Amino acid sequence: MSRIAYINGRYLPRSAAKVSVEDRGFQFADGVYEVCEVRGGRLIDERRHMARLDRSLNELRIARPMSPAALAIVLRETVRLNRVRDGIVYLQITRGEARRDFAFPPGGTTPSMVAMARSTDVVGLEQLAADGIAVVTVPDIRWSRVDIKSVALLPNVLAKQAARDRDAREAWLVDAHGRVTEGASSNAWIVSRDGKLITHPLGRDILAGITRSVVIDVLKVQGLAFEERAFSVEEAYAAREAFVTSASQTVLPVVSIDGRPVGNGAPGLVAGALRRDYHRHAEIA
Ligand code: PMP
Repeated sequence: MSRIAYINGRYLPRSAAKVSVEDRGFQFADGVYEVCEVRGGRLIDERRHMARLDRSLNELRIARPMSPAALAIVLRETVRLNRVRDGIVYLQITRGEARRDFAFPPGGTTPSMVAMARSTDVVGLEQLAADGIAVVTVPDIRWSRVDIKSVALLPNVLAKQAARDRDAREAWLVDAHGRVTEGASSNAWIVSRDGKLITHPLGRDILAGITRSVVIDVLKVQGLAFEERAFSVEEAYAAREAFVTSASQTVLPVVSIDGRPVGNGAPGLVAGALRRDYHRHAEIA
């Protein structure tokens, strides 16, 4: 079965779905994206992902290419055409195609929009969660507006590759004060020795992860102690547990940081419980 992508009004075989060399996404990474989990063929936390998409577009003054209702239909159709039951749907919107010039193109330039969907290897992901993942720390060299989910991801690409080069699955980005901001493609969490869950506060220096926000809802409902504050690499080394959150993987336990075992080196109980409970709290559309 050929994979299908939505591109500017058409559903095309992936091999025929091409953007222009003058697309501002290609030229300047002048665009934003979203990744939404698909489970049982349904979109998870779509409302929050679409709200974040709107915010990213507004911050960059990129026009919405279509109404929220039309967008919802495109996402579902993309999932359906690719026969995805468990996986992700990816959406990208750029400022559109225009003669190369740094400043915004003339008013009326139509934004470009692409959507793709793919299945997850569910068995592989569950195995990963059962084993836990290794992370390594790298300097956070990104720009100062990473709250915008822009497609300008070169520092994240380099960080992820640095992790792969050191046989790790994720990189944790460390700011100038030695504190972990977030992962290259996830939010970073620790459970301190006294059982508190800690994750970096929202602001311009992290992405407001949707999975992070759902996990915080769970913690509030269950009355678990948590703090939104930056934690240092040393605190992370000494943590009882660590884990990462992202839409494509929900909650994944971290079992080593820079080669040092976290806790007893096995996936933690808190991370495991959060992973098991996640979809009872997420919105299923
Ligand atoms: N931070 C970064 C840098 C990311 O790329 C992602 C994944 N898109 C996240 C955090 C997690 O966000 P979400 O839970 O919305 O997937």
